[in-house]
Amino acid sequence: MTATQVVDLAIIGSGSGNSIPDERFADTTIAIFEEGVYGGTCLNVGCIPTKMFVYAAEVAEIATHGARLGVHAKVDSVDWPGIVNRVFGRIDPISEGGKEYRTDRCDNITVYSSHVEFDGRDDDGLCRLVTADGATVLAREVVVAAGSRATIPPVIADSGVRYYTNNDVMRLPELPEHLIILGSGYIAAEFAHVFGALGSAVSIVARGPALLRKQDADISNRFTEVAQAKWDVHLDTAVTAAQDLPDGGVRLTLGDGTHLEADALLVATGRVPNGDRLNAGSVGIELDDEGRVRCDAHGRTAARGVWTLGDVSSPYQLKHVANHEERVVQANLLKGWDSPDLESFDHRHVPAAVFTHPQIASVGLTEEEARDQHLDIAVKVQAYGDVAYGWAMEDTTGFCKIIAERGTGRLLGAHIIGPQAPTVIQPVIQAMHFGQTAHELARGQYWIHPAMPEVLENALLGLEI
Ligand SMILES: Cc1cc2nc3c(=O)[nH]c(=O)nc-3n(C[C@H](O)[C@H](O)[C@H](O)COP(=O)(O)OP(=O)(O)OC[C@H]3O[C@@H](n4cnc5c(N)ncnc54)[C@H](O)[C@@H]3O)c2cc1C
Repeated sequence: MTATQVVDLAIIGSGSGNSIPDERFADTTIAIFEEGVYGGTCLNVGCIPTKMFVYAAEVAEIATHGARLGVHAKVDSVDWPGIVNRVFGRIDPISEGGKEYRTDRCDNITVYSSHVEFDGRDDDGLCRLVTADGATVLAREVVVAAGSRATIPPVIADSGVRYYTNNDVMRLPELPEHLIILGSGYIAAEFAHVFGALGSAVSIVARGPALLRKQDADISNRFTEVAQAKWDVHLDTAVTAAQDLPDGGVRLTLGDGTHLEADALLVATGRVPNGDRLNAGSVGIELDDEGRVRCDAHGRTAARGVWTLGDVSSPYQLKHVANHEERVVQANLLKGWDSPDLESFDHRHVPAAVFTHPQIASVGLTEEEARDQHLDIAVKVQAYGDVAYGWAMEDTTGFCKIIAERGTGRLLGAHIIGPQAPTVIQPVIQAMHFGQTAHELARGQYWIHPAMPEVLENALLGLEI
């Protein structure tokens, strides 16, 4: 396609951006640009496939540790190609179907399967977008929903060594006997669980003194202890060199001069927003120091008519945040750039989960953040092992930590490590959003006995407010 198309709306990125056009946009001409796999990170290489692998890992983990409960089971074998096929046999058709739907069944939408960049504006002020394969689109409004990508440390990138990221590690043809994971954040922790539980020996190389350091310190410390007990964890460790081995493996040289060899290397050292690959300045879009597209609370960038949402502009880099921002931008597109009643992003209480083992979930302030803000706080830590379901599971590592304001009972934060943490935490997220106090949440409702959330109920009741 080489002729210039003029559209009402251009959307860069088919992840959360793909949800914008609904029936209210039936009379809007739209161009969607996607340089990668249709449907974006969450569907294809992020949240959804990782959690499908995590569930298989959970099954293996439970079977392996059944003896504690008197159930003597073992994992005979893991059909890695079968797991890969199960996951992508479901996901790939969804991606293909999504693209086909937009391409073949939405008359008002054109899909450009190509990288695109801004190229200034035309004389009428329309944004000029040029694709890598030579098409030009002029757009009255643009939504930048271009997501983020894995960062690769220079020592790895420059070495030319074979490495994997979340983009391809889930499609490895066979389960590696030994996997090195570079990184200490949630993606590293989730893949360590997946590969470790399914049978790979896992080495983690982390630059800092603990894993999951963005979590509350008690959670990070507990997770680091648990990780050290089952994986080969190298903390405070830099990689100084990397090379391929003749047998197809990889060798890292660590800061202390020792070497680490494995069948494969996964790089999970963080993600950078894709705003640097858009020639954004040509239309006046500003990036912040971290490379994020700057926007106001309504999703408007510094460039008139250009909106943004999701990982490319959000510090959270979470799908539920991208979805929320997409709904706000969608509503605001319908209201108009200068509307006096634009909707706003709500980032007051953004929760997050890590689907590793044990699972982790958090919302609100960490204890350290609350103390840094000089808030008068009450903190209660309740072990899973203190409640009936924790006994049933023989849990010894899980706990729930609640932080509330003394005097008012205002909930400030919750941090949970243990079975089903992302589910157990949901009542706190709800209470924080709707302004309920710790006492109202604890005593204003029934808690099913003896279900796992009793750990949360007991933590709330134990707060000395
Ligand atoms: C391994 C992993 C696990 C994750 N797990 C979770 C989880 O459990 N829960 C959670 O909330 N979040 C999770 N996330 C984060 C989540 O996937 C992202 O926050 C979310 O997908 C961001 O959505 P988005 O729409 O902003 O960007 P994306 O979904 O990344 O969409 C952006 C799209 O834009 C395209 N694009 C970029 N630049 C251009 C260009 N110049 N031209 C054309 N196309 C372009 C990209 O190819 C991409 O498809 C995970 C991420 C990873 C990597």
